[in-house]
Amino acid sequence: MTIKTDVLVIGSGIAGLFTALKISEFANVVLVTKKNKSESNTNYAQGGIASVIDPNDTFEKHVQDTLIAGAGLCDKVAVEMMVKDGPDRINDLINIGTEFTKKGDSFDLAKEGGHSMSRILHSKDLTGAEIERALIKSIEAKSNITVLENAIAIDLLTEHNQQDLKREIYKNQNCWGAYILDISNNQVLKIIAKATVLATGGLGQVYLHTTNPLIATGDGFAMAYRAGAEIGNMEFIQFHPTSFYNVKNSAEFNNHSFLISEAVRGFGGLLRTKDGEFFMHNYDERKELAPRDIVARAIDNELKKHGDDFVFLDLTHKTANEIIEHFPNIYNICLSQGIDITKDLIPVVPAAHYACGGVVVNLNAETSLKGLYACGEVTMTGVHGANRLASNSLLEALVYAFRCYESIKESFNKTVFSIPEILDWDDSGTLSYDEKVLITHTIKEIKQTMWDYVGIVRSDLRLDRATKRISNIMVETELLYKKTKVFNEIIELRNLVTCSHIIIESAKLRKESRGLHYSMDYKFSVPEDSIKNTIIKKLDQ
Ligand SMILES: Cc1cc2nc3c(=O)[nH]c(=O)nc-3n(C[C@H](O)[C@H](O)[C@H](O)COP(=O)(O)OP(=O)(O)OC[C@H]3O[C@@H](n4cnc5c(N)ncnc54)[C@H](O)[C@@H]3O)c2cc1C
Repeated sequence: MTIKTDVLVIGSGIAGLFTALKISEFANVVLVTKKNKSESNTNYAQGGIASVIDPNDTFEKHVQDTLIAGAGLCDKVAVEMMVKDGPDRINDLINIGTEFTKKGDSFDLAKEGGHSMSRILHSKDLTGAEIERALIKSIEAKSNITVLENAIAIDLLTEHNQQDLKREIYKNQNCWGAYILDISNNQVLKIIAKATVLATGGLGQVYLHTTNPLIATGDGFAMAYRAGAEIGNMEFIQFHPTSFYNVKNSAEFNNHSFLISEAVRGFGGLLRTKDGEFFMHNYDERKELAPRDIVARAIDNELKKHGDDFVFLDLTHKTANEIIEHFPNIYNICLSQGIDITKDLIPVVPAAHYACGGVVVNLNAETSLKGLYACGEVTMTGVHGANRLASNSLLEALVYAFRCYESIKESFNKTVFSIPEILDWDDSGTLSYDEKVLITHTIKEIKQTMWDYVGIVRSDLRLDRATKRISNIMVETELLYKKTKVFNEIIELRNLVTCSHIIIESAKLRKESRGLHYSMDYKFSVPEDSIKNTIIKKLDQ
């Protein structure tokens, strides 16, 4: 079945929803999302969204904090744009009904690690869910936005999968939409659009421990890579220092860990080993408020030193009322796991949290493929450099979603679109696959390999080992994909292994330790000596 629309948006997190909402002001939109529309990383964001709101705060301070976190690799122009556009975009969210927590008449601005001022707007500890709620309500009121749930994008429509057009590939590559699997009836749709927006979020599921929900299988990075788009700085994976360690082995936290927000340390939470020792003073003078990468490496080191599976986060010196008032969600979820955080220590472990790199976009959210735009976690905008400052990702997604809307609007005003004949999905000669257990096992293998060899601490030897294992899995998966009728799990497996490959190749290119990329074989170098962005591009189309 073929669907034609003006704009195809893939993903229903903050980036996809806000882009669709804005674009509906001048064009028709089809928005596809692979589960239900609220399932996204956005929905789990707790801490909040950073912006200069306090009269004592300044754009310069927010820019400076972001540049310091980025360890010399941020694009300053992009950072300045994000910071300066921030307050207007926050107002957009407020205007559609997002309710941020207030203290009296003013917003209750929180302070998080790496920020020199209190500038985090939040909705208690459920900020992302509140933003999703307001955006979804607004989207549902728009008659020219069609939302397709349980619809997973398989691949972008570009010259690379259109036989007759393949010869054009090295000239001027275009994107005309995507092949989408309607999971409910196993039918592949061909959605053709004048502009396509990739807003598919992150890839935490590549790793054994992750805060990201099951949707975060890196589909957008992998689709863009297969289509020949530039992908940058994928070695910079942020590991959140404190995710809840699933002591009871509860099924609900088997596939992703529950995040114990940064704000808990901002509020005074202290880290202790299983023996009760405080340790952060041994690593950084900012102690628990040091940037995430330093805290994650410190915990990793303590775990390895003591042979433990987790450390503790301690809030027990605070009053019960204060704790419950600030962190009702964390309190309730921990309680459901038998931990009363007003009295008990919280077991925590680092977990893959955020991809700083991604599909390379310019200030207008344009990728290197004509007609393909991207925003949100799937992108490399230059804003995060080698490390992301807490609460800048929701802001980045929002600001670039708006940029996306502006540049698509401009292109619609000046372009006469001519879309070539696009091939139907062809699965002749393929067979149904009924051994899903092999896929589940392969995914486990990928996660363990990436955790062991391409995690918080890396080395050349570890990266070589990972290359060998992931290359084998990639070849096996591609063979399986080609002879099988497409289905959800194989799409995700193919994307997970592709993302692993891209992360490893990027990590091998960076012969230094910098920001989130820490290798035992290379020292942290001064920014002037840094290798600039690592760019990976698929050449054999
Ligand atoms: C637990 C947690 C807490 C966080 N806390 C904060 C915070 O406090 N502040 C902050 O700034 N950031 C935070 N982050 C990061 C932030 O939430 C994300 O970076 C941001 O929400 C990403 O938004 P997005 O729209 O790009 O992607 P997402 O919100 O992840 O949305 C991606 C969408 O794409 C869909 N999708 C993916 N692949 C496909 C496909 N193949 N076909 C169709 N649909 C697809 C998904 O189903 C989903 O709807 C947190 C992240 C997590 C996991």
